[in-house]
Amino acid sequence: MKDCEYFPKVVRAEGPYLFLEDGTQLLDGVSSWWCVIHGYNHPALNEALRKQSENFSHVMLGGLTHGPAEQLADKLVELTPAGLDHVFFTDSGSVGMEVALKMAVQYWMQSGKPEKHRFLALKGAYHGDTTGVMAVSDPDEGMHHLFSGILAQNLFCPAPSHGFDPDLDQLAQDLSTLERLLSTHHHELAAFVVEPLLQGAGGFNMYSPAYLNQAKLLCERYDVLLIFDEVATGFGRTGRLFATDHTDIVPDIMVLSKALTAGYLGLAATLSTTAIYEAFYGPDASTALMHGPTFTGNALACSVALKSIELIEEEGVLARVEHLSRVFSQAVESADHPLIESARSLGACLALTLTDPSQFPAIQKRAIASGLWIRPFERYLYLMPPYCLSNDQAEEMVAKFFQSLG
Ligand SMILES: *Cc1c(COP(=O)(O)O)cnc(C)c1O
Repeated sequence: MKDCEYFPKVVRAEGPYLFLEDGTQLLDGVSSWWCVIHGYNHPALNEALRKQSENFSHVMLGGLTHGPAEQLADKLVELTPAGLDHVFFTDSGSVGMEVALKMAVQYWMQSGKPEKHRFLALKGAYHGDTTGVMAVSDPDEGMHHLFSGILAQNLFCPAPSHGFDPDLDQLAQDLSTLERLLSTHHHELAAFVVEPLLQGAGGFNMYSPAYLNQAKLLCERYDVLLIFDEVATGFGRTGRLFATDHTDIVPDIMVLSKALTAGYLGLAATLSTTAIYEAFYGPDASTALMHGPTFTGNALACSVALKSIELIEEEGVLARVEHLSRVFSQAVESADHPLIESARSLGACLALTLTDPSQFPAIQKRAIASGLWIRPFERYLYLMPPYCLSNDQAEEMVAKFFQSLG
């Protein structure tokens, strides 16, 4: 706040554009923290909200049920990999992840292994901002190291570091510490928690489906649950509907949020297998999952999520992600600037690590002056735009992005 000279004030947004009070038009390279996948002010999404609001906007989901929540739960079960058959709604990615962790711990309590209550996570992870998930996010870097002394003490494994397509030696290297930690600590571990393929706010590390396939085998061998945090990767960002779709496996628990409502409202879904569900399914409330967020299953949020999924299915959205993916990987191949330490892309995400983050204010200023909205942080400059960019807009965005380096 102290150093910020200029806060652009948005008065309107349409498609991939933000319109500011002073008339400036910005192409949005961030899709409002990666969730506005269809662009702003989308007529079909607006209409879904309006229609639902005329029936009711919200009723408690404790003891009641309603069409939008039931339909969305069914739809998510249908779209996600076979085996994820149960859905718990919350209102943000962090809380959806809290539920995942709580579910894993309680699952083991009710399976006669209460000592399995710690988590194994990756260095460079980001799983949200509430205290439970801060404790599975990178303990040293990132935003939460201040709190490390008061958080639950979990275990961390080096993140896989050989990209999307490692050779067998590299894969073995990436897996060696994971295997060692699982073999030493499995008796106290509830779950291994990862952002599949793309570690987002912890530094945009991109890694392989092969790693996840092997990690699942190890988790099975050592009787540790596998939790996929698809809050950022869900709904097309990696080029498939879910990052899990690049793999041969199904996690025990999977969390969706960000793009779930296409950026209209806060909503998250924690999905689990039937085996986990059944550990909570008892004769009375004593074994239930005691978690009841006020806005769980909000009807407006569920309605707009259903409409967003319909758009993904009907409008060739994944084909547009594939186009973006090609534009981004070409840009990464030709990326060349003294400030760039490394460049990478996966699906509709392009990320640079810069050598000198003190340049960020100047970079952001140049981007805005050229009509591009980006928001660099720490050492990272990235694009995660709405998928609705036309081919020309995608080229324009990439050109302005690299020009902003000066
Ligand atoms: C954003 C994010 C979260 C937290 O979601 P919020 O809605 O901001 O609470 C959790 N995990 C990942 C991978 C994220 O990108």
